[in-house]
Amino acid sequence: MTKKSRKLVVVSNRGPYRHEATRGKERWVRSAGGLVAALDPVLQRRGGVWVSAKQAEDFDSITVASPQLEYELAYIALKRGDERGFYEGVSNGVIWPLLHSFPPTIRVGEAPWPNYVNANREFADMTLSTSGPSDLIWVQDYQLMLVPGFIRAKRSKARVGWFCHVPWPSPDTFGILPWRQEILEGLLGADLLGFHLSEYAQHFRECVEQFTPYRVSRNAIQYRSRTVKTITAPIGVPVDDLQALAIDPDVEREVGRIRQVIGKRQLILGVDRLDYTKGIPERLAAFERLLRRDRSARSRYALIQVMVPSRTDVKAYADLKEEIDRMVGDINGRYSDTGRIPIHYLYRNLSQRALFAHYRAADVAWVTPLRDGMNLVAHEYVAARTNEDGVLVLSEFAGAAKHLKAAVLVNPYDVEGTTDAVHHALHMKRTEMRKRMKALRAEVMRLDVHRWADKYIGALEGV
Ligand code: UDP
Repeated sequence: MTKKSRKLVVVSNRGPYRHEATRGKERWVRSAGGLVAALDPVLQRRGGVWVSAKQAEDFDSITVASPQLEYELAYIALKRGDERGFYEGVSNGVIWPLLHSFPPTIRVGEAPWPNYVNANREFADMTLSTSGPSDLIWVQDYQLMLVPGFIRAKRSKARVGWFCHVPWPSPDTFGILPWRQEILEGLLGADLLGFHLSEYAQHFRECVEQFTPYRVSRNAIQYRSRTVKTITAPIGVPVDDLQALAIDPDVEREVGRIRQVIGKRQLILGVDRLDYTKGIPERLAAFERLLRRDRSARSRYALIQVMVPSRTDVKAYADLKEEIDRMVGDINGRYSDTGRIPIHYLYRNLSQRALFAHYRAADVAWVTPLRDGMNLVAHEYVAARTNEDGVLVLSEFAGAAKHLKAAVLVNPYDVEGTTDAVHHALHMKRTEMRKRMKALRAEVMRLDVHRWADKYIGALEGV
């Protein structure tokens, strides 16, 4: 695609890359997470600017070679007083859990809302100074829901979009937020609001209907003198790049090494950020059940669980880490033999190459979040299976399940049912496996991230 004349300005809390110089050593690091994985290839192809906050922490970043960037990076240094309250307090303590229909991890009424407001204002100001009046501004996700309104207040003719990378719950749940009206008004500063699924967009419109005086129609809201549109655009992955990576000889060598460690056992793979929405304890409980069912299971199955450190300063995450550590230790203690352990537990961020070697090596991908806006790990596993084999076990509560219907779908809360489903996946006949994987691959290709971006940006240009 040729670069368009309208510059694209992407705004998100976390950026894709960061250059660090500590103790005389310089390095580039890349952030993990679905948002970065999706938007980086889009900007690489199209060019533009990516505005994000300077992140001090680097626990879930990975060192990479100096990137060949086809776009510019712009950073905001948030005021120290606002940084923590904005990120840990409001965004991750209250808004993230509520949008995923979980109870907040801190008391809602004690959340430092002014920090969220201030930080959003800083993002808006930086975006305004980095962009011109005819540029396309594309704000991302739940941390920055007031940014569209702040931009609109200063540049009434701005072309602003916002995309929701998480679920949007019903008014019963969203309405818990004491700042619900401010948030909705902030978002209505945009021209176009994007969601992965039509049910999330529908919930959003119901919230507007219930908590604001504005008129809602099929895919639009009449907000004062403007019409704000909603659009459903399910995100995907850069399929061509990922398929090329999957068959890279270095990756293939790494696959051989992994298979050697696992031996004759069938390999099940879990890949998640450490988060209570990902259903990791439920998965471990189901795996334990699988091992307990019959004695030969331990010589037949192995689980590799990759867990990327995330939000380690938030207490709920530290507690979850402890619970998972305990469960893994307990299962390995009970079911290991000398030289053979059931769970290989990798608590770190893998390079893309290492990750794809794991996707290629695994007979079954176990992707069972309790709630997830989309889940790109499921897409990536399918993209990596160029031989049309392997089985995807997928939670029906991941947005991805709406499209990847040929997966083995499970209710992750139902531990017994999940154990049965994984057992079925491990014993699936080749013909069924191939049929399912073919259908999954067609869907993942259809949902390619470049098509997602073209659809959204095209709609934003058109409003
Ligand atoms: N990921 C990564 N390194 C890892 C494990 C995962 O970079 O060690 C990436 C993975 O490739 C995927 C993203 O993290 O693109 C996870 O996205 P997903 O939508 O599944 O979940 P999120 O973390 O955004 O909730």
